[in-house]
Amino acid sequence: MEQRDHVVDYINRTLDIGSITDYCPNGLQVAGREEINHIVSGVTASSRFLKAAIDANADAVLVHHGYFWSGESPVLTGMKLKRIRTLLNNNVSLLAYHLPLDVHPELGNNAQLAKRFGFEVEGRVAASGTEGLLFHGRLPRPMANTDFIRHIAGVLGRGVTAVGRSDRPIERVAWCSGGAQRFLPQAVELGVDAYISGEISEQTTHEARENQVLFIAGGHHATERFGVQALGENLSEQLQLTHQFIDVDNPA
Ligand SMILES: [Zn+2]
Repeated sequence: MEQRDHVVDYINRTLDIGSITDYCPNGLQVAGREEINHIVSGVTASSRFLKAAIDANADAVLVHHGYFWSGESPVLTGMKLKRIRTLLNNNVSLLAYHLPLDVHPELGNNAQLAKRFGFEVEGRVAASGTEGLLFHGRLPRPMANTDFIRHIAGVLGRGVTAVGRSDRPIERVAWCSGGAQRFLPQAVELGVDAYISGEISEQTTHEARENQVLFIAGGHHATERFGVQALGENLSEQLQLTHQFIDVDNPA
């Protein structure tokens, strides 16, 4: 058992949340009971996820996509009210970490993607004002475009959308989880053969084709499952609590 505030402090320090400007609050978003025995992680604090977490006896939930995004209406109605009411009625805390969980060099989504894809990280550059958000590196040995696409789909365990094509075998790569397709031009400037993100936009296809680079959209949800899992595992190792990850599938 751990004090909730101690767990929150530990994560806030580990992810150095004060160093990152984000468009949602990072840390404790909804305060539930003061003690945590069991924490359940997931990608998004959706109603379905909350129900599954509560059924699994969560004292707190840990997610990448929490609530209170800048620009959204601050009123508590509809879907947002239902979600928050579920947390309050069950006295469950919501801990949410967005950009700090993308950029962290070990526990973050991008670092974890590198591990699973087998990429050697060579560097991280700033993207849309966040230091170290766009990762780049290389494969241990070059792969044909088609083999590389199959490899990425295999690791993610789902179909991917691939557009464009590199004239060379794929060796140098860049990647950023989630909705980071807009960083493709920056990846091109880095001179990579392939860029991987979660989502794709209409213009991404043209940018990939006209720059002779392979672009793979692996799914916003699918590419952001690994950070919360790594963080949850770290908590269960370093603190007196248990952790479990619940995947509520999302094809997007
Ligand atoms: Zn995301």
